[in-house]
Amino acid sequence: MTVTARPADLTGGRPVVPSRGALRPLGLAEVRITGGFWGRRQHLIGSATLDHGRVWMDKLGWTGSFLRDGNANADRRGREFTDSEVYKLVEAMSWENGRLPTPGRDREITELTALFAGAQAADGYLHTAFGGPGQRPRYSDLAWGHELYCTGHLLQAAVARTRTSGGDDLLAVAQRAADHVCDTFGPDGPAVVCGHPEIEPALAELARVTGEQRYLDQAALFLRRRGNRSLPPHQFGWSYFSDDQPIRQAHTFRGHAVRALYLAMGAVDVAVETGDDELLGAIIEQFDHTLARRTYLTGGMGSRHEDEAFGEDFVLPADRAYSETCAGIAAIMLAWRLLLATGRPRYADVIERVLYNVVATSLGDDGRSFFYANTLHQRTPTAVVPEDQEQLGFGGGPRAPWFEVSCCLGNTARLLASLSAYFAAVAGDEVHVFQYADAEVRTRLADGRPVGLSMTTAYPDSGGVRIRVTETSGGEWGVALRLPDWAGDGATVTVNGQPQPVSGDRVVVRRAFRAGDEIVLWLPMHPRFTHPDPRIDAVRDCVAVERGPIVLCAESPDGAIDLDRVRVDPEVPPADYAASATPAENEKNPESTVSVSAVLEQTASTAWPYADAAAGGARTPTSLRLIPYHRWGRQGPATMRIWLPKT
Ligand SMILES: [Zn+2]
Repeated sequence: MTVTARPADLTGGRPVVPSRGALRPLGLAEVRITGGFWGRRQHLIGSATLDHGRVWMDKLGWTGSFLRDGNANADRRGREFTDSEVYKLVEAMSWENGRLPTPGRDREITELTALFAGAQAADGYLHTAFGGPGQRPRYSDLAWGHELYCTGHLLQAAVARTRTSGGDDLLAVAQRAADHVCDTFGPDGPAVVCGHPEIEPALAELARVTGEQRYLDQAALFLRRRGNRSLPPHQFGWSYFSDDQPIRQAHTFRGHAVRALYLAMGAVDVAVETGDDELLGAIIEQFDHTLARRTYLTGGMGSRHEDEAFGEDFVLPADRAYSETCAGIAAIMLAWRLLLATGRPRYADVIERVLYNVVATSLGDDGRSFFYANTLHQRTPTAVVPEDQEQLGFGGGPRAPWFEVSCCLGNTARLLASLSAYFAAVAGDEVHVFQYADAEVRTRLADGRPVGLSMTTAYPDSGGVRIRVTETSGGEWGVALRLPDWAGDGATVTVNGQPQPVSGDRVVVRRAFRAGDEIVLWLPMHPRFTHPDPRIDAVRDCVAVERGPIVLCAESPDGAIDLDRVRVDPEVPPADYAASATPAENEKNPESTVSVSAVLEQTASTAWPYADAAAGGARTPTSLRLIPYHRWGRQGPATMRIWLPKT
């Protein structure tokens, strides 16, 4: 194997670079988030989250695992997959260093890379929990050992590093590991798969970076081997591993949500690179089904705590929502791949919903705490977690600084550090803008013409998005803007003050632009009631309130309001709270809040919670204030609910 140093990707780096598809994704240098909702969170990742992750991983010995020589590996600390957390942190650092290069960060990546290289066996194998003296043999526990899963995250870290800073030692480590995987599990190797998918999209992306066909072939081979029940029987069933049926024969995502979604990401990558439209179609069908029947209002996925899994169709209990942060992030990564392949803006709707209602919810204001699971209904007030305490359980409760399984933090960091690469794309002579934020876009059309856009907005607090042309070079070209499904037919667009016709899921403005031309998009941000499919029994006869892409919730810090007693009048439309609030109240709550007309119903304590007649006590009218769901749990212990029973 030879590894040649490559210049950094001229786009500034992108997580996914398909060789074909409807859209060419733009990189970190082509789209820069300059402030606003996501700018604040990107800053948080760079200034707090990455260092926080490093401190914990050092403290718990996860980075130290790479230091031990073979004789001392028996006292390795942490679960089998902690290597992956260190790799994910390095991936996040690499994107962050691409976004905002700093010598300190660059040095840190180099030092960690040296650790990995030192722990790698001569044949390329690299995992700190297997294969050493006193440890279990390599690949002796494919179902739970996470060896190939960890290798996958190593590969993705190297992809990020290579695309943001050019090829270096990390790519060499990754290629040695990938070659080892191909040598061990190639066409003549055992017909087995890893219990946790991840190696599949990682090998496909490494193939895109290096041009090595064998990596793509190996990803395709792992996909073909999945679904043949090669993993041992388990109480969760083969569906937990997506190993119950061949990927092309399935009709929905099932089993462990993150596993299923990572596998689907790899399937899209392989389908796109090999021109396998049947495989692509299978994943599209499975995703459609999952969105229609197995997804929470927040875009969260997974309603089973025991196995972190999808429930059956319409099993979406609010108070038992698992909705792991990682599943949300994987859904974004999958939707982005499908968007690039098909060009359909509705995948960007999914990305938007999950970003604002899962990812933004998970991340604490300090960048040093996060939700693992994202419930839609907190019945008992959350506890306070000391900042030095590791959480062993991860099914609910408050944002915590660290979990025994801390997959979500690194995932959030790598997504947000690279977030601008999910915002826009080019197709022919059109720039497609999918997410609205304060951002600068500078790129080239397919014919090489340089173009630039400057986007300013208070989105999602306000529905106004101002897009100014900053660079153009003669001749006609187009700007395509996504019209979110939630906006209905309420969007308006003007170009230099002149109204444009608007319909469907996007508006395309085409002309020989001049610098300074201005497109203004207005999306209707009035709060609205949302009703669930009646087959979602757990929230039948309830309503939720949304405003733009934001899901709202009722929160009761310290249980000041008994949310069990709330019933909402669906005949009175929800209203912006600001309209009725005092300036001081609005000052205190800069993010949009909404009020709904409600009653507090008297409840009685009975010995048996069932009766011949429907219960119903005295009702006290009230105006209930709702806050963005992503803001909940930030004012101390609280109860919360998104779905509100109707009067
Ligand atoms: Zn996670």
